[in-house]
Amino acid sequence: MARKTTRQSRKAAHKGKAAHVKSRKAQGKADAAAADGALPQWTTAEIEEAFRRFAAANPTPRGELQHINPFTLLVAVVLSAQATDAGVNKATPALFKLADTPEKMVKLGEARVRELIKTIGLYRTKARNVIALSRQLVAAHGGKVPHDRAALEALPGVGRKTANVVLNIAFGEPTIAVDTHIFRVGNRTGLAVGKTPLEVEMKLMQVVPERYRLHAHHWLILHGRYVCLARRPLCEKCLIADLCKWPTKTVNMPSS
Ligand code: SF4
Repeated sequence: MARKTTRQSRKAAHKGKAAHVKSRKAQGKADAAAADGALPQWTTAEIEEAFRRFAAANPTPRGELQHINPFTLLVAVVLSAQATDAGVNKATPALFKLADTPEKMVKLGEARVRELIKTIGLYRTKARNVIALSRQLVAAHGGKVPHDRAALEALPGVGRKTANVVLNIAFGEPTIAVDTHIFRVGNRTGLAVGKTPLEVEMKLMQVVPERYRLHAHHWLILHGRYVCLARRPLCEKCLIADLCKWPTKTVNMPSS
């Protein structure tokens, strides 16, 4: 199926719909070279221009995980590890209808939670974590989601990325949660190169202009999810194609 997509892309390129689509191998090599820091640096003006365009195109971007309050957001993010937001959103309405607070979640119990989320990958571990973190919220935080990174990361099943999402969406902190999409976009474009999500996060926090930091997380995720796709980036539809440093773009646009 994936090979067919590449062939179709090449055909489109021959018809002039896209330009010179490189093979998957060439794209993979370009991604690896980018992660090794082979791409040119972005200038301050280019970074400013990229985020100006993201902001103009989507001034108030939103996360795609459905939630009702900070607690249901936290649970949804925990459930989304190694799963798609769409998959999580299919399961959570029924769960949150029964339990939208830590107290109700504890009362619902692990077996019932497991049953309600069984369509999501790793559901057994996730059900266990959801109950354990709910218990901890009740015992240590009066049933509230703490506005504190260390306290969030101390909850079962909650790592830095989850804490960043909650701090950003629930509390309006300008954090950048680096998931698989942001990791790829950061490295591939040359905007924020790093070997680990933490390195990419630190680089982004350093280069993204302050006024764009609150929404940068969403813009970059949406960009990676819908435009800068892992296997076949849609460079011909990309807002920042003229700024991006990736050498194997799928459109005739030299790297700047
Ligand atoms: S031009 Fe856009 S879609 Fe293509 S690799 Fe660069 S950021 Fe991704």
